[in-house]
Amino acid sequence: MKKLAMCAFGVLFILFCSTSGYGKDSPSEILTFNADIAYQCIQKQVSFGPRVPNAQAHRLCGAYLQQQLTALGARVHVQRFQAQAFDGQSLALQNIIASFYPACQKRILLAAHWDTRPVADKDEARPMQPIDGANDGASGVGVLLALAQVISEHPPAGIGVDIIFFDGKDYGPPPGTFPTDNETAYWCLGAQYWSLHPHLPDYKAAYGVLLDMVGARGATFYRERYSVYYAAGVVKKIWALAQQLGHGRYFISQDSRGHMLDDHVFVNQVARIPMINIVDHWPGERPLFKAYHHTHRDNLTLVDKQTLQAVGETLLHVLYTAPL
Ligand SMILES: [Zn+2]
Repeated sequence: MKKLAMCAFGVLFILFCSTSGYGKDSPSEILTFNADIAYQCIQKQVSFGPRVPNAQAHRLCGAYLQQQLTALGARVHVQRFQAQAFDGQSLALQNIIASFYPACQKRILLAAHWDTRPVADKDEARPMQPIDGANDGASGVGVLLALAQVISEHPPAGIGVDIIFFDGKDYGPPPGTFPTDNETAYWCLGAQYWSLHPHLPDYKAAYGVLLDMVGARGATFYRERYSVYYAAGVVKKIWALAQQLGHGRYFISQDSRGHMLDDHVFVNQVARIPMINIVDHWPGERPLFKAYHHTHRDNLTLVDKQTLQAVGETLLHVLYTAPL
């Protein structure tokens, strides 16, 4: 219970839009990101077990995330829907959406996926068992929950923030095991659904930032190709800010060659909101993913607070010093 309380304290009803808020002249002490909170929120997610759609751990974790965001005073929308998986199964999915300062016209969208891969298809020893997903899934959510706490206590000047936890990101067919002519259709199910059915009609955001695999020790965030294509200005701003903050060994100023199929692709192409992806990967076309990807090495021992700190601190500075 203590850990739960650490993840969400301070109940505020934050429905207004602050024009004064904490802008450029804000005291620097509010710009502190707490990686311990992010880490605890990752631990908590992992403690439920693999968050595989239709599993009990998935339901429990979904309830936990809603409860955390509600306790922070956000306006929480839960988008429940059924999606058909590549193997014909019907998945009960939920996108969890938290709006902070809904009265603000200018909005920034932050997102991560909260489901985890049902198989460890790249693992040599136990490929059929689901992964912990401490990094692939839980890390992005952990960083955003820790950020949400700051956002709820300190309104960013003139902007509102929406946090979306997408479901069904990682239920795609294992490569080579299930031939399908349209494999991309079976990944990112939550982002696909939301992009067609946003939680508010006419929803708009100035831009979006997706976090995926943002907790691994020694992570390398090269400038991912779709992000540069759809939102070059946002990439430039965020990578420059990260360098200024001393996080250049994570946010590497080099374009990668590979295309990362991830939730931001659908947000860019279908919802038409420019969205970048901060994602741990290699800059060449192959291998694109790190060695832990979709294996049982993706567990809590992979997660490093320094990486969480670099990502959280950078995003915090974006929101409070140069949001638009
Ligand atoms: Zn994955």
